[in-house]
Amino acid sequence: MLFSSCPSIMSDTCHKSQMNDQYSYSTLVLDLGILKNNMALLFITTPSRSVEGWIKEVKKLNPSLDVRVFPQIGNPDDIRFVVSWYHQPGSLKQFKNLKCISSLGAGVEFILEDKNLPQVPIARVVDPSLVQSMKEYLIWAVLHHVRRMDEYSECEKKRSWPVAPLKVSRAGEICIGIMGLGQLGREVGKAFVQLGFKVCGWSQSKKNIQGIESFGKNDLVRFLEHSHVLICLLPLTQETENILNKKTFSKLPKGAYVINVARGKHIVEKDLIQAVSKGHLGGACLDVFRKEPLEKDHPFWKHPKIKVTPHISSITDPLSAAPQLLQNYKRALSDQPLLNLVDRKRGY
Ligand code: NDP
Repeated sequence: MLFSSCPSIMSDTCHKSQMNDQYSYSTLVLDLGILKNNMALLFITTPSRSVEGWIKEVKKLNPSLDVRVFPQIGNPDDIRFVVSWYHQPGSLKQFKNLKCISSLGAGVEFILEDKNLPQVPIARVVDPSLVQSMKEYLIWAVLHHVRRMDEYSECEKKRSWPVAPLKVSRAGEICIGIMGLGQLGREVGKAFVQLGFKVCGWSQSKKNIQGIESFGKNDLVRFLEHSHVLICLLPLTQETENILNKKTFSKLPKGAYVINVARGKHIVEKDLIQAVSKGHLGGACLDVFRKEPLEKDHPFWKHPKIKVTPHISSITDPLSAAPQLLQNYKRALSDQPLLNLVDRKRGY
């Protein structure tokens, strides 16, 4: 059965009763009574984020649901719940009966940037499929780099068999430094511990996670000095914008590799290019960019030591995450506390 067991990622992050509620398929299907005719859930996304899969999954869970897609909003007073992926700032003001805004993904900075945001709770997606996908991507990115796969690809293109294997460091000699030990960062960290890497992490508050050396907010420099591979999994906030800059890079060991899977605005792009080109950094793998899609003439594309992927490291899977959207819809309608609530003040 699809939702019969609680995925392991949830186990240390939410209460048992909440988990049962969140993943109980039958609760959702039976939950028709709460909805009235004038209650609708509205999706607002960018053209590149199709909502078809979401509509299919939420309708499967509750066929009587009134689901609308922006700009076909119908009567704005019907909208009780908005699921947003980069809505137009100011566009939510018109929904007078709005009870909740949910991000379609894990990040919420684009919601909080809206200066005219209604004063309703904000939720986000915390989902095992998102974690799994992020782990897969990062394991690929790290192993591709440490096993020097780009160089082997060049050999392959030339049909050239190297005289001797290229020298590589063993996993136990490499420290993976993870910025952000939240829902994603801590699980990614555990995955690298399992692979035999040293792992350290940096977060607002110090953590106690087996196998991971944790550094608190004021210990950024020591954390950076440890990190042979730096992975950014921070939320984008006023404090973290531009955090990957010249100064940060200079504290990393020579030859360090930088991976950004959080948000493009975490990186000062020219500082990264300079640090890689000058040889202080060994290279970078970037999945997110200040402007997406990345412009055709952007220097990242042709830089031999910078790998570019088109924001695909982890995408919310509607099949897996639709139940929690509906749980929150139900909770919002009945004024119960939301799952995966965002702290507006902290910005994540
Ligand atoms: P969480 O909110 O669960 O975790 C955030 C972590 O960052 C926490 O450990 C927090 O510390 C730490 N943190 C926040 N601000 C600071 C700061 N100023 N200094 C030090 N540490 C800080 O987020 P998730 O793990 O769910 O997601 C992280 C980000 O990943 C998302 O915001 C999103 O932008 C990005 N993402 C990207 C995807 C992609 O496809 N590229 C997919 C999914 C997410 P503490 O624990 O002490 O509060």
